Amino acid sequence: MDRSLMQRWLVTLLPKSWAESMEKESKEWKVICPCGAKDTIWDIGGIRWKARAHKKTSYVVCRTCGEGAWMIVKREFQDE
Ligand SMILES: [Zn+2]
Repeated sequence: MDRSLMQRWLVTLLPKSWAESMEKESKEWKVICPCGAKDTIWDIGGIRWKARAHKKTSYVVCRTCGEGAWMIVKREFQDE
């Protein structure tokens, strides 16, 4: 998956350790589509970093079914 423009811009701009932390954290945020597909914020071109809340809703277009919907975005740690 290509990085979005925003991701590329931030990765260029930030110190390497920050960029890595940002990518890691964005990948812990999961978006679950009503069709059952699961994606990460990072993989859909988004960034979620240093967020205090552990759950939110966001309008996302699913890469699997192509439908846009308000989906629950929640943080899941990769080691779970
Ligand atoms: Zn879907």
